[in-house]
Amino acid sequence: MKIDRIETYILKVPLGSERFFSSQAEFPERNSFLVKLTSTDGLVGWGEGGQYGPAEPVKTCVDEVLGPKLLAMPDAAPGLVWETLYAHTRDFGQKGTYIEAMSALDIALWDLTGKSLGVPVSTLMGGRFRDSVRAYGTGGYYTSTTFDPVADVAALQTEMERYASTGFTMLKVKIGLLPVRQDAARITAVRKALGDDFSLLADANHAYNASTAVLMGRTLEREGFELFEEPVPPEDREGYARVRAALDVPIAGGEAEYTRFGFRDFIGGGCVDIVQPDICVCGGISEVMKISALASARNLRVVPHVWGSGIALSAGLQVCSALPLAPFAYEPVPLQNEPVIEFDRTRNPLRDELLTTPFTLQDGRVLVPGGPGLGVEVNPDTLERYRVG
Ligand SMILES: [Mg+2]
Repeated sequence: MKIDRIETYILKVPLGSERFFSSQAEFPERNSFLVKLTSTDGLVGWGEGGQYGPAEPVKTCVDEVLGPKLLAMPDAAPGLVWETLYAHTRDFGQKGTYIEAMSALDIALWDLTGKSLGVPVSTLMGGRFRDSVRAYGTGGYYTSTTFDPVADVAALQTEMERYASTGFTMLKVKIGLLPVRQDAARITAVRKALGDDFSLLADANHAYNASTAVLMGRTLEREGFELFEEPVPPEDREGYARVRAALDVPIAGGEAEYTRFGFRDFIGGGCVDIVQPDICVCGGISEVMKISALASARNLRVVPHVWGSGIALSAGLQVCSALPLAPFAYEPVPLQNEPVIEFDRTRNPLRDELLTTPFTLQDGRVLVPGGPGLGVEVNPDTLERYRVG
């Protein structure tokens, strides 16, 4: 398979009054960087690269550096391309923008390879363990940087109850923007609203140092939370290990880590119980397979981080379909040993309108497309509507 044409797209949607905050940033818009590869035999593959950062530098990496290399390769098989591009960019890449650009190309190449062979990506990865994946809804962001202990808590409870009414049995709420005592009040209120049997997760987006994370984690433990995501900054591996040793709530992280080399040290440092590579960031499907192997050797769970468009979500579903239980048990239990898929609930037309058949929740699960490659089609009207570059 040889690549004949590379097209790159930057899509943006201003959020207006629906902007929101995490512990790290305001989100005034949603954006995605997409790549479309066309092979010499006329097949098309789609990929996505990057998550929170600006899309423009990722696009430049593809347009100016990686794309010409890919076009010159006589055999554009994903593994061959990945190693070639990584070797080419090692001295100035390794993490960040270049790996995000490689992620986009890699996902598109797996989509293309699946289409050329007539099988889903999950089959190429080794086979499907499941045709649908339990979804957890991500929400509970902040609508402002101030805190009203009555109105804000009530609004958060209403938001979470609304998600639960659509079939979710597992939800994630944001923490870390406010003082620990105020975020603890939000956590306690969410548990009270949804009841003791509901699966709840919390994400600090690395807002804490280790001692503050442990303090916050005591509330998560008391309220029976099943995951504490990014308690400390990704570079602070000793902090991660300290938090993990101090708390019973499982520690998760990895959305800001790159490649098998980064995850070798992250996993090897005893940082996490649940490994969360972002497929559009960590190096694509080729690299997430290697990261999953590192995790599997330690019986760690892999729950890919998903934030982007319908392309990112479709890649996440194919990967989740092909991940084994960690460890095997006769009855799979979502999150306890079975992969779950992150299903962001904040406004994002690039997730909900980009594909001709959008993903929906059915009995708390999302079906994994069974068609060749990623198994999805991009709606050209949506692409043009939100395209800015
Ligand atoms: Mg996160």
